[in-house]
Order: sequence, then structure tokens, then C-alpha cells
Amino acid sequence: MPGKELSDPCMNCHEAEPEFTLRSRRVCQECYVRFVAFKAFKRMENYRLRKGMPKTGPCKLLLPLSYGVSSTVLLHMLHKQIEVLQSKSHGPAGFEILVLVVDPSTIAPLPLPEYGFDRIQETFPRCSFTQLPFHSILELDPDVHQIMSEYAGEGFADDTSNSDEERLASFRTSISTATSKSDVDRILLNRFIVAFAKKMECRGIVWGDSDSKLAAKTLANVAKGRGSAVTWQVCDGMSPFGLEYNFPLRDLFTAEVRTYAGLFPELAGIIAHDAPPSENVLTKNLSIDELMIRYVSTQGEKYPGVMLNVTRTASKLQSSGASSVGPQCSFCGSFMPTTNVATSTNSADGDEQLNKNLPPQFCYACARSRPDLRC
Ligand SMILES: [Zn+2]
Ligand SMILES: [Zn+2]
Repeated sequence: MPGKELSDPCMNCHEAEPEFTLRSRRVCQECYVRFVAFKAFKRMENYRLRKGMPKTGPCKLLLPLSYGVSSTVLLHMLHKQIEVLQSKSHGPAGFEILVLVVDPSTIAPLPLPEYGFDRIQETFPRCSFTQLPFHSILELDPDVHQIMSEYAGEGFADDTSNSDEERLASFRTSISTATSKSDVDRILLNRFIVAFAKKMECRGIVWGDSDSKLAAKTLANVAKGRGSAVTWQVCDGMSPFGLEYNFPLRDLFTAEVRTYAGLFPELAGIIAHDAPPSENVLTKNLSIDELMIRYVSTQGEKYPGVMLNVTRTASKLQSSGASSVGPQCSFCGSFMPTTNVATSTNSADGDEQLNKNLPPQFCYACARSRPDLRC
């Protein structure tokens, strides 16, 4: 018996009942999932086929998981890609995914799903997992000790007899404003993730940011004076830390990532949903990062094309003020315009010598977030 004739079938496969509107087309669930997953699949092509890299041996990529919807969806998609890769007897060597969870309860008090870490390991058996508290950064990245003291200035005394947990906590409390706090936390987290990726000999880092998140990051970075760091923070390619940065969800809107997550019941017990923004919070108590996330999530839903433009434009920028060689900020690692740094020699050896002897140098944006402004 022929199937029931659909009066208005999925605009893609023309076979099933449409359930979702995907970029103004009515499509069925299967076509929705296929479209969304394909965006990330395309972005992983170089790693899957090992384009321009050794075809044998490990190709490890680190995925930082925050239990947020984007990084969890990215893990779900990449795990599926690995399943397919491993099911082929003569397929390409592909990539491995190492997942790092910086225990969110050690960053901010948050209600998290119980047994989250056990559950992700059961759900994604083809990846490997590590969970560490935020203060492990002091062990992973020994330079942070000295930088912390130099950065916080005279008002902060680092008590070396304290535990790493206490030392990090007292440094974080020395930072005064909401914007600076969130800025400093982001830099520390980035250093943490980079240090771990290097320890595990990863080739690069895959970040869960969707298009909307990247747009918010672009706007916030410009507002915070981190315009020159925009490129590596939102573009696929080499970062100043010698690791490749990739954003496989960059062609997706947050709403699409959220809809995808809702279609897989196994993700419900993992994802910690952000608390809905409270209207009562005074705007002046919000950091620029939070403000931009709010702005993009309210305006981005109305005008998705505008947000897409923000990230596309930023991706085309070559940072003009800073080159990708030369002195790097001691705190955030961004390259600094050479005019900010005293150099007296052109020889490579000499430069290296000079950098070693120089006190830590902070870029304009990091200097602005310092508790004790001495610049
Ligand atoms: Zn369909
Ligand atoms: Zn900096």
C-alpha cells in the first residue's frame, strides 16, 4: 500500500512530515539533524582526512567541556564521527578526542547535574576524559605563580605556605570589577586548557562556540581592548600558543544547537542549562562578557544574519597592530605591537636573551584589568 500522501512534506527529503523550521525551510527531524551535524562534519574534514599532516600516528585534539549546551553538542557530534571512522576497515586514521572538564563547581557555585562526569564517560566511550579543579592550573602551568604576583601588584601578597586552592582563590578575589574578574578567569582558563593540551601532546583544541557565541566574544573583546586577540579567539587556525584552534560549530546558531540537543535524550542528564537572565540584576554589576551574551541572545534571535556578519567580518581580519611573531603578553599570551616593548637588538639570540631578562610585560587589555594599575 503506498504511503500516505503528505500535502506539505519536508522541503528537503519530500518524504516525511516537517517538524522544524530550519533557515526558513520546513524540514523533518532527520533532515534537521543531518543538516546541523553536517556543518560540524565539514569543519572537521582536515582532521578526519589528515590533510597536510602525518597520515599515521596519533592526531589528538582536546575538547574543553563545560557541561554547557554547545560543548556537549560538539562532543556528541564528534563522538558520532569517531564511531563512523572506526567502523570502516580501510577508512582514514582520523582524530582522537580527549575531553577536559575544569570542574565547574571550582570556578563558580553552580547547580550541576548529579554524576555528570560519570555519565559523560558512559555516554561517550570512544573519547577519554579528565576532570580537574580550577586550581590545578598552578601545577600544570608553573609560570602562573609568578605572573599572578606580578599582575596583581602590591595589594596582593601570595602566601606560598597556602594550598594551591587558597592561593588561586585569593588572587581571584584581588580582582575588583565584574568585567575584570570574568576577563581574568577567561585568561586563566585558556592557559589551563592550553597547558593541559600541551601536556597531553595534542595538535589542537576544538571549542564548542556557536556562531552566536563567537559574535558575542568578538564584540566583548573589542569593547575590552582585546581587538588584536579577536582573530585567534574566533578564527580557525594557529593560536599564539603553538596549538591549532578550531570552532566546528561556527556555522550554527545557538538556537539550532539547542534544538539539536533536545533531540537526544541521553544529553538531557549532562547539560547544565544556564540560568535564564534575571531582569533584576543591575546592568552595572554585569561584566562586558555577560552583557554581550545577553545582547547577542536577544538581538541575535531577531536578526541572525547580523550576528553571522559580525563573526564573518572578524574572521577576515588580519590583526594589523600585532604581528604573529615577537613579544607576547605575559598573562594572556597575545602578541603585542612591538612599539610597546623596548628592543635594542635585532639578532634572534639577543631577543631571546632580552625577553628572558625582562620583567613580565602585559598587553594593554590585561593591564586595564589589573587591580593595581601601574601602567
Ligand atoms: Zn526530511
Ligand atoms: Zn594580555
